[in-house]
Amino acid sequence: MRIFSPTETESSERRVAIVPASVTKLTALGAQVAVEAGIGASVNFSDPEYRDAGAQIVADRRPTLASADIVLRLRKPPLADIAALKRACIHVSFLDPFTDVETVRALAAAGVSAICMEMIPRSTIAQKMDALSSQASLAGYVAVLLGANRLDRIFPMMMTPAGTIPPAKVFIIGVGVAGLQAIATAKRLGAVVEAFDTRPGVEEQVKSLGGKFVKVDLGEIGQTAQGYAKELTPEQLAKQREVMEQRCAQADLVITTAQVFGRKAPVIITKAMLEKMKPGTIVVDMAVESGGNVECSIPDEDIVVNGVKIIGWRNLAGRVPRAASAMYSSNLTNLVDHFWDRTAKTFRLDPANEILRDCLVTHDGAIVNERIRTLAL
Ligand code: NAD
Repeated sequence: MRIFSPTETESSERRVAIVPASVTKLTALGAQVAVEAGIGASVNFSDPEYRDAGAQIVADRRPTLASADIVLRLRKPPLADIAALKRACIHVSFLDPFTDVETVRALAAAGVSAICMEMIPRSTIAQKMDALSSQASLAGYVAVLLGANRLDRIFPMMMTPAGTIPPAKVFIIGVGVAGLQAIATAKRLGAVVEAFDTRPGVEEQVKSLGGKFVKVDLGEIGQTAQGYAKELTPEQLAKQREVMEQRCAQADLVITTAQVFGRKAPVIITKAMLEKMKPGTIVVDMAVESGGNVECSIPDEDIVVNGVKIIGWRNLAGRVPRAASAMYSSNLTNLVDHFWDRTAKTFRLDPANEILRDCLVTHDGAIVNERIRTLAL
């Protein structure tokens, strides 16, 4: 089978889909691997490194897209690239399926079997392919460093002959993959860390990282079968905001990571709450791409409200692109490896498979994922 990885087309994206170590693994499976010239330039991998790992370097993506059996990339494909793919090509990438139905429709119309990396199930067996988790983990780390950089104080307590400086107080809202990594990073830097999540089950995880779990009695909430949080009622959200307001007023750095899969993120920090925070407080809104947890955060901008700085940068994992590419590339390679038939040296695409029935969104000319099909109607 011919596997092709083209360069990313989004100019601000520095992450790449495939690193040379993955080329070695894919060629060892018996696949023929081609990458577009310059694919690794943004993360300092040269074409000769890809060639040494076993890849063919192609200068013109169009004919290689047309002959590829499997295309591996990071971001969703431009429509022109979809038009170039051959029917029954297996295309693996993020697809942003909840906001960009047009791309999904185009993939279906082209007869492409599109595997959507956002839809990899949250199961033990699929963990090795879970790119949302690998990227969220790095994003949590970056969010803390960004906040630390902007803060006018230090994280650790310092006792010196010149006096004692108290540790910074960090408050993290949302303790999923990103939130846990943010807690661990802030603790390592010496901050005092508090955290809150609507899923009370995470209390133990917060404590095990040295953080303090903030309790709010919200009544019945729960989580989906995939482990994602359910949406709160307006009454529950109002109750949550009351406690958040008190904790945010004490904090030096607030990091919000609260998301509800496939829906707009809840607004947790209102403008009125920002006005009650100490001037100089930094707020990093990690949910900015899905609507934002902070009322006035703006994608890719820093704004100041009453002396509080709100950082709304998207794609935080993309700020450590070499590490993020290594992890994403492993996720892709693990996926191919998992479905690889070692005898026939082909990718076994069974739409009924327990992993593929969640993440295969188009197949055989149709949108086969029910949730996405409903959106596309
Ligand atoms: P996410 O990015 O969807 O959301 C981040 C966090 O925000 C979640 O913990 C969620 O509970 C929380 N949240 C939602 N609404 C909130 C609100 N109003 N206030 C405060 N917090 C709110 O979640 P995620 O990081 O992708 O992970 C969700 C869960 O899935 C975690 O328990 C994680 O450990 C689990 N998980 C399991 C697997 C696996 O088994 N393969 C893989 C990844 C994650």
